[in-house]
Amino acid sequence: MIRPQQITVLGATGSVGLSTLDVIARHPELYQVFALTGFSRLKELLALCVLHSPRFAVVPQQELARNLQDALAAAGLDTRVLVGESGLCEVAAHPQVDTVLAAIVGAAGLRPTLAAVEAGKKVLLANKEALVMSGALFMQAVHRSGAVLLPIDSEHNAIFQCLPADYSKGLGTVGVRRILLTASGGPFRETPLADLMSVSPEQACAHPNWSMGRKISVDSASMMNKGLELIEACWLFDARPNQVEVVIHPQSVIHSMVDYVDGSVLAQLGNPDMRTPIAHALAWPRRIDSGVAPLDLFRIARLDFQAPDEHRFPCLRLARQAAEAGNSAPALLNAANEVAVAAFLDRRIRYPEIASIIDEVLNLEPVIAVEELDAVFEIDLKARTLAEHWLSRSGR
Ligand code: NDP
Ligand code: MG
Repeated sequence: MIRPQQITVLGATGSVGLSTLDVIARHPELYQVFALTGFSRLKELLALCVLHSPRFAVVPQQELARNLQDALAAAGLDTRVLVGESGLCEVAAHPQVDTVLAAIVGAAGLRPTLAAVEAGKKVLLANKEALVMSGALFMQAVHRSGAVLLPIDSEHNAIFQCLPADYSKGLGTVGVRRILLTASGGPFRETPLADLMSVSPEQACAHPNWSMGRKISVDSASMMNKGLELIEACWLFDARPNQVEVVIHPQSVIHSMVDYVDGSVLAQLGNPDMRTPIAHALAWPRRIDSGVAPLDLFRIARLDFQAPDEHRFPCLRLARQAAEAGNSAPALLNAANEVAVAAFLDRRIRYPEIASIIDEVLNLEPVIAVEELDAVFEIDLKARTLAEHWLSRSGR
């Protein structure tokens, strides 16, 4: 009998975490939940523990841990509750864990994701911010430990599926001309530019095709998400920024493409549902049922493409600029964006000011080489301080 794989889900209470647990629950003979982590939605975490009986749960503070431990005991579960970043790192690197799903949002996910990588786990990466902040160190750790890194960001999972198995020899060596990274264009693709000053967080979070967490939804509206994904693609597939072209494809049916020198373009298609890339990465190199409905091409009927307008989407331009500058620039971009998006979600700034804040931080802070993790966190902190300074100077 095959032993079920032991899975830690970092960010279990979020959108990707819940999709992962949905896929896992369809295959109890293949996968068993080892640990679940949450941050603010602790009632939901308790309900997930009752459903999946993990060995460990992780919460951010001691008092919350005591409350959850009591509630778990009352429900007859012997799940142990751990606390904070050290708890996250412990369940990510635990010797009994096979696979770690990295789905914490933002910079907070970096240390636990790296802990899983350093422990040589199979790491299913959703937390793109971790790779954007510390790509060089992250990939060095992957090569050193022998961790298997599989992308579940839908575009990168699509690219991975369209590349040959030996792509790590170099994109040029395996005949790849370009990576075509598709983007929906988000909810503001056709909004008159003058109206962008008054769009609300609710409008920004109402993505036309995907249901996601609030931060990534705003990133999708601004196309910063595509900028972060451009940087993510460069690290995952050892590509230069100019080998990655962004293509707006409003239907979100093609999840990305690879253009080869012989003129062939390979695409991966599917309904926009994260359970497909999650199931692909969980079972790779096999295939399992994900619960996603078959693609109905007759209903979709047409696929459209257009070039992104950098005037409408300045965040995409800023991200490309940071990708080209390399070194500390992506970490600055990421941290400034996290502060700006949080301020927009709190209604402290208007939507176009997200780009203004990031632009200022990138202009003020010189780009430096990054050789260790502590330096990444220093850069992250500097960018956050500069972004906060923008907010206080503008009275927000
Ligand atoms: P959500 O906001 O839905 O979920 C985020 C998860 O992270 C939650 O479990 C949340 O806990 C937890 N979390 C938040 N802050 C912290 C913190 N400081 N410390 C520890 N845990 C924390 O986000 P998504 O699921 O949408 O996205 C997760 C990641 O996956 C992001 O990096 C995103 O870019 C990426 N991604 C998401 C996609 C999607 O379709 N949603 C697609 C591709 C990539 P709690 O809810 O309990 O507060
Ligand atoms: Mg994506």
